[in-house]
Amino acid sequence: MELNLLTLCYLIGSITFIVGLKMLSHPESARKGNLVAAFGMAISIVGTIFLYQENGEGLHNYVWIFAALIIGTVIGVLAAKKVKMTAMPELVSLFNGMGGACAALISIIEFKHITHHFSIASVAAPLTEVPYATYLSIFAGLIIGSVSFAGSIIAWGKLNGSIKDFSFKGQQVFNIVLFVFAIALSAYLIVNLTADTLPLFYVVLVASLVYGVLFVLPIGGADMPVVISLLNSFTGVAAACGGFLYNNQVMLTGGILVGAAGTLLTILMCKAMNRSLLNVLIGSFGASSGGTQQAVTGSYKEIALSDAAVCMSYANKVIIVPGYGLAVAQAQHICHELEKILEEKGVDVKYAIHPVAGRMPGHMNVLLAEADVDYDKLLEMEAANDEFKQTDVVLILGANDVVNPAAKTDPASPIYGMPILEVEQAKTVIVNKRSMKPGYAGIENALFFQPKTSMLFGDAKAALQKLVAEIKSM
Ligand code: NDP
Repeated sequence: MELNLLTLCYLIGSITFIVGLKMLSHPESARKGNLVAAFGMAISIVGTIFLYQENGEGLHNYVWIFAALIIGTVIGVLAAKKVKMTAMPELVSLFNGMGGACAALISIIEFKHITHHFSIASVAAPLTEVPYATYLSIFAGLIIGSVSFAGSIIAWGKLNGSIKDFSFKGQQVFNIVLFVFAIALSAYLIVNLTADTLPLFYVVLVASLVYGVLFVLPIGGADMPVVISLLNSFTGVAAACGGFLYNNQVMLTGGILVGAAGTLLTILMCKAMNRSLLNVLIGSFGASSGGTQQAVTGSYKEIALSDAAVCMSYANKVIIVPGYGLAVAQAQHICHELEKILEEKGVDVKYAIHPVAGRMPGHMNVLLAEADVDYDKLLEMEAANDEFKQTDVVLILGANDVVNPAAKTDPASPIYGMPILEVEQAKTVIVNKRSMKPGYAGIENALFFQPKTSMLFGDAKAALQKLVAEIKSM
C-alpha cells in the first residue's frame, strides 16, 4: 500500500515537472509553471521521507534530514528574496553548482557504501554482487556532477567579476587529456576494482573538478551564455545518474528533463552565437584569433532629450533594443510607458531581442513580460534584422555587445562570428547608456561613432522618465 502511495507521489511529481516545464516556455504562464513544478517536488520529497521503505524499514535519520531541509530552505528563500534582478544569473549559476555537487556527493556516498568492506579485507571486486550498471551510474554521476559543480562556481565568479579569464599555452590539449584520463580511469576501475585500486576513485574526483575549473576559466568575450546552459544540462544528467542508482523514477524524470532542456537550450545558444559545441567542450571558446583588434577611432555625438523626443514622436516606426543596462536600471516599466505614448501618437513600436542580451538566457523576455509588454511586439533577431531597413529610429537601451559591428568586421575581436542586431540599417540610431564604457565583452563599439548614431547619456530609467515627460508635453 505504502509503495503504491509512494509511486503515486512520484507519478504526480513527474507529471507536474513536465506540465511546469511546458508552462515555463511562455512568460505569461512561467511563474505558475514554476509553482506547479515546485509543488511536485515537495510531494516527491515528502513522499520519499515518510513512505520510502527498504527491507520493511523506513528512513531513520529524521533529525539530520529535517535539519538539512530547514537550513537549505532558509538559505534558498533568503537568497532568492534578497537577490537583485541583475544578480539573478549568478544565483542561477550557484544553484546549478549545488545540484552538481549533490550528484557528486551521492556518487561518493554510494561508492563508499558498496565498497566499505574492501577496507576490512583485501578482496577481489564483488562484481557479481554489484552490477556494472551501478558502478557506471556512480562514476558518471561523479564526473558530470563534479564538472558541473566546479564549472558553475567559476561561472558564478566570472559573472560577478571576481574571477578573470585565464588560459595557458596548450590548455585545449591539456583539457582533452584530463577529460579522457578521468573517463579511462573510471572504465579501468569499473572492471578492476579491488582494495588496492579503491583510492583511485578520488583521483577521478579531483581530475573532474580540475577539468570543470579549466573548462570554464578561459571562456571569455561574450560566450558565457552557452557555457551556463551547458553546465545546466550537465547537472540534469548527473541527477539522472542518481535516479538510475536509486531506481528512483522521479529523480530520473527530473534529471532527464533538466538535461534535455539544457541540451536544447545549449544548441539554440550555440546557433545564436554561431559556435560549434565541440569548441565549447574543449574550452577554446570565446578566445579571439590572437591578432590585434581593429582600433575604433572618430568622435561620437550627443543628442538632446528634446531632439530625441521629437525624432521618436514623428517617426513611423521605432524599434527598441533592450540590453543588460535596462535590467540594471530596472527601466522595463517606464520603457513600456514610452511604447504606449508613442503608439498613441501613431508610431509603430517593436522590441528587438538578441538571444544573449542581458546576463541569462531569456533575460529580456522575462524583464519585458514583467512590465506587461505584449509578447507579439517582441521580434527575434532574424525578424528584427529584416525590419531595421524600414525603421526610422532604433532606440538602444543599455545594450552594447549585441549591437557591436566588430562581430562581423573584426576577426581579432572576441565576439567575431556572433550574429548581431544590425541596427545600423535603420535611418537613425539613438543609444542610451551612462558613459562610453564597454559592455560584458570589454571591447569598444564602433557603432557609437557612426554618423547616424547619437548618444543619449544617463541611467536608462532616469533618461526614459525624462523622455516620456518630454513627449507628453509636446
Ligand atoms: P552589454 O553587457 O554588452 O552592455 C551593457 C551596457 O549597458 C554597458 O555598456 C553599460 O554601459 C550599459 N549600462 C549599464 N548600466 C546602465 C544603466 N543603469 N543605464 C543605462 N545603461 C547602462 O549588454 P548586452 O545586453 O548588449 O550584451 C550581453 C552580454 O552579456 C553579451 O556579451 C553576452 O554574451 C553576455 N552574457 C550573456 C548571458 C546571457 O545568457 N544572456 C550570460 C553571460 C554573459 P555604461 O556603463 O556606459 O552605462
